[in-house]
Amino acid sequence: MPYVVTNKIAFVAEASKILSSSLDYSVTLGIIAKLIVTNVADFCIIDIFDGRKLKRLAVDVSDPAKQNLAQRMFEFVPNPKNKDAIYDTAKHGKPTIIKKATREWLEKVTTFQVERETIEALGLNSHVFVPLKSRGQIIGVLTLASMDKDFFYTEEDAIFIEEIADRAGTSVDKARLYSEAQEALKTRDEFLLIASHELKTPLTSILLNLQGILKKISNTQTHTKEIKEVIKMLETSKQQSFRMSRLINDLLNVSVASTGRLKVEKERFDMNQLIEESIAQYLPQLKSHNIKIDYISEGKLIGRWDRIRMEQVIVNFISNAIKYGRGNPIKISLVEKNKQAIITIEDQGIGIADGDKEMIFDQFKRAVSPKEYKGLGVGLYICRQIVDAHKGTIDLVSEPDRGSKFIITLPL
Ligand code: ADP
Repeated sequence: MPYVVTNKIAFVAEASKILSSSLDYSVTLGIIAKLIVTNVADFCIIDIFDGRKLKRLAVDVSDPAKQNLAQRMFEFVPNPKNKDAIYDTAKHGKPTIIKKATREWLEKVTTFQVERETIEALGLNSHVFVPLKSRGQIIGVLTLASMDKDFFYTEEDAIFIEEIADRAGTSVDKARLYSEAQEALKTRDEFLLIASHELKTPLTSILLNLQGILKKISNTQTHTKEIKEVIKMLETSKQQSFRMSRLINDLLNVSVASTGRLKVEKERFDMNQLIEESIAQYLPQLKSHNIKIDYISEGKLIGRWDRIRMEQVIVNFISNAIKYGRGNPIKISLVEKNKQAIITIEDQGIGIADGDKEMIFDQFKRAVSPKEYKGLGVGLYICRQIVDAHKGTIDLVSEPDRGSKFIITLPL
């Protein structure tokens, strides 16, 4: 008789441990049912409320030969009108014990002939129904039954099963909250993806128009004071639109990365050239802020990587070195070692504390005050996703106030 538990405290402790290890809703329910049929009963059903109706989510039986028969119980939904059974237990919030499943009782609690026949074929005799509770609410009902003709559930058994049901209820609730949170995150990422896509289209058109107008005005013969002012205003608008476009790109990349859709399209190219071009984009900014940049490389370094994404990575590290570098010189290097390209970007700026070194690679995580340094906190997250997709690594050596060195290693 598997339902005679010799060490109840040990069983409850073990059950709690196993239950707290899973956050997957359906897995959790499966574990509960399995735990019950291997330790406390011959047969188990778990019905969980979905709104006002109970849904049958798990069925298990101790005898493997009866597994197919037991699975048929999934076809029968509990009937709210039946007395002394599942809905009744949920309504009262207390266990219901049926010492012996008589024909009369079976007729009362089943809706279909085939349901009765299945229960009889399974040989279910004594039953106990226990409410599953979480945070004071009844979230479902646990049905246990024995196949032993001479065994009858007692009040004491019901108390013990209630204790298991309490642990089960909490873990079901935890799993449910977790899966709801996952859903919400998915919705957020989908929203970001769509919103950033939609924002990109009109912005691209604005940018193109601004560039066109600027070109036309700049080409006119007479540059009056007004025209000069208009050109200046247009330049500012263009810069701000570029900035907005970069931010939208970042958002788009976050949603792409977190929905698991980041794909790399590799092609053969020279990393040395890509780094030189990336640095060139920043030359006007570096010049106007009087920041020196020193690039050392051994020349051409050909490999197969995603050109656009790798440019994004390099540009992100350069712009961070400028942003957090306190105006001090920046060193960049590229070397080949063991069939890998090793790129380092080193600044002598604010640096990063040990406790922040992992966290800054997470989405929207930052280690600086937003008042002092503007940003979304997604750049490093995207960089890591891209480098991971190339089977590479990013290492960080840094000390507060002494600067940061990011080392990107990429297989060729
Ligand atoms: P953002 O710069 O928009 O915050 P990132 O993902 O690029 O986004 O960087 C995340 C955080 O990592 C930054 O907010 C900053 O705290 C830290 N960080 C990144 N690069 C550096 C650096 N070169 N020096 C110091 N801190 C840095």
